[in-house]
Amino acid sequence: VIGSADMNSAYMSASYLINQTVLVDIPGGVLRELKRQGTEETVRHVLITHTHADHTMDLPLWILKNSKRNPEDAHHVISLHSEKINLDRMRALTGMSFFSSLTEERLEQLVEWNADDAFRIGNLLFRRVPVSHGKVTGCGGYLVTDGEMTAGFTGDSCMCDGVRKLASSSDILFCDCDLITGNDKHMGIDTLMELHREFPDCRLIATHLKDETREKLKELGSTEIGIAEDGAVYGNSLKHKKSPLP
Ligand SMILES: [Zn+2]
Repeated sequence: VIGSADMNSAYMSASYLINQTVLVDIPGGVLRELKRQGTEETVRHVLITHTHADHTMDLPLWILKNSKRNPEDAHHVISLHSEKINLDRMRALTGMSFFSSLTEERLEQLVEWNADDAFRIGNLLFRRVPVSHGKVTGCGGYLVTDGEMTAGFTGDSCMCDGVRKLASSSDILFCDCDLITGNDKHMGIDTLMELHREFPDCRLIATHLKDETREKLKELGSTEIGIAEDGAVYGNSLKHKKSPLP
């Protein structure tokens, strides 16, 4: 977990690094944070859940940095994964941010823009699952599996069929829990309790937390819902519980 909070917190905005190479969402400040941890150079792939600014604003910086690499480097390829509509938005944002160096043509050469809803990166298989986040279009959570363990990320979402699908397929699910009481844009502590009752085998980790929600969760001391902390690492202890992606 690189970041575990919403945008108005001293904690970092929600973002996750998988096996040192794949970043789920790329909010402002995340590259600096990765640099502090010594891993920024290893990120080759970014998955975007939706295009709100607190999930995307370091993308132009990441692409610009990679544009200055040696093109002979075999690890030069970088890829961006999301709904087509989001890729178009991100291309526009990046072009606008560094218009003299990152022209449309250059962006096309530099980045693999992947709108597939299922794809493979190394030994990891990914699947995007549409979720519902108020009126925002193009929102999707992700499932990732190495064949033994499956992790899910809801991105910003209210309770919806997509979240249920993610919970039913994951050993561990990082859930938007912005609020104490969920609404049509974000889940809340009440939503996660409901989700836990429905999918008791899925370990739920509350993230994208408002400070007051984090405090409330700590006060409740729930054993059913884990609380994401910036810098927390989740690993192999959860393997072999669920079968790989359908
Ligand atoms: Zn959002």
